Order: sequence, then C-alpha cells, then structure tokens
Amino acid sequence: MVSSVSLPQVGVLSLQGDFACHQAALTALGAEPRRVTLPQDLEGLDALVMPGGESTTMLRLLEATGLRVPLETFVRRKPVLGTCAGVILLGRGAEGLPASPLEALDVSVERNAYGRQIDSFHSPLEAPVVGGTFPGVFIRAPRIRRVGPGVEVVARRREQEGGEPVGVRAGTTVGLCFHPELTNDLRFHRWFLTEVAKLRLPALETAAAGPAAVTRGGSA
Ligand code: GLN
Repeated sequence: MVSSVSLPQVGVLSLQGDFACHQAALTALGAEPRRVTLPQDLEGLDALVMPGGESTTMLRLLEATGLRVPLETFVRRKPVLGTCAGVILLGRGAEGLPASPLEALDVSVERNAYGRQIDSFHSPLEAPVVGGTFPGVFIRAPRIRRVGPGVEVVARRREQEGGEPVGVRAGTTVGLCFHPELTNDLRFHRWFLTEVAKLRLPALETAAAGPAAVTRGGSA
C-alpha cells in the first residue's frame, strides 16, 4: 500500500544502551524512529527518546560527539522521554556524574539506588495515565529522591511495594526509572507519543485499537 501520510519522526539517542528496543516499540506504534548520534540527527524530529544504559558513558559521549549543546536546546523545546539512565540525564542532579546533567526535569535522583546489576527486579506499578497497573522492569535503576514543584508523578510502585515515585512528567518532558521498552506493553510509549507529544499515529488510528489492546507486534 502506498501511503502519503507522513509518520511522526521520533529520534532515539543511540550513543550507547538499549536504544534498539525503543526503536522497535516506536515502529510497532507506527512512528518512524531515527537514530541520533550526531547533532544534525536532531533536525526535524518531532520528539526524542533517551534510553537506558550508562549515564556516565552517555554524558562523556555527548561531549565527544558535539551533541551536548544542541541536545540541551532540544530537550527544552520538544517532547522527550527518558528511561532509566535517560531520567538521570534529564534530571537536576545525581552523584558520580562526569558532567552536569541536562536539568530539563526538576528531580534529583540517586543512581544505582537499589543495588548492583544482580539486584535488578520486576515490580508492579500504578500508573493511571496508562490505565492502571503496569509491569515495572528495574535494572540498576535510579531512585527519585526529590520531586520539584510543577513535576507530576505518573507512575509509582504499588502501595505494598512502597508507593514511591518512579515516573515523572513536567510539560512534555517525561522521565521513567523503569524500562517499558523491555516489556511487550506499549502503553507508556503510546501515551508519550499521543498524549504528551500530541503526535498522530496514523497506523493506530486505522486499526482503531483501544489503549489497552496495544502490544508489540501490532494491535490485538
Ligand atoms: N545505573 C545506570 C546509570 O547510572 C542506569 C541503568 C539503566 O539505565 N538501566 O546510568
């Protein structure tokens, strides 16, 4: 089928980390993912995803590639979803970083706050913005220690798990401590694209899928 409908262009910061899983999630939702490794890759993007990985390495690579300054501008103007290391980069402060983070989100985080890689875990979340329960995958995750005024909590660990904030939003900037891209559940990506970034996803509209029906590989 030949389509004249232009797809939303969504960048995925691809210096390091699990950018490929975000690309797959965006493709499944009918967006057009574009890898971002150089400053010119930011041009023309409707939104950006900053993946999990190693925030210290990413910060060094931002300097080395010349992306740091244009990215600082981008995250203040356009919708951005940061997951795990991404939320560390978007935040106002975390210990042990080789350079200051981008400070687009008024939160302070503690890196590796649940322990080492071997202490990674699953934990059920409460996330009303995506309709309720969501599977939380935490890998050497940061913990949000301070939520600034004007920052909305969009996901918490379930009450019996502590109720602590693990997802935040300020305007069109979203930070998640967990990894929705490592599940089959695309509701967070969909919410970010349609509700936060206000992008139209023609494929989903055609399929007329309900929000809860969307999983990787298409709509059920
Ligand atoms: N511990 C990593 C960091 O500090 C983040 C882990 C992740 O993104 N899964 O950057």
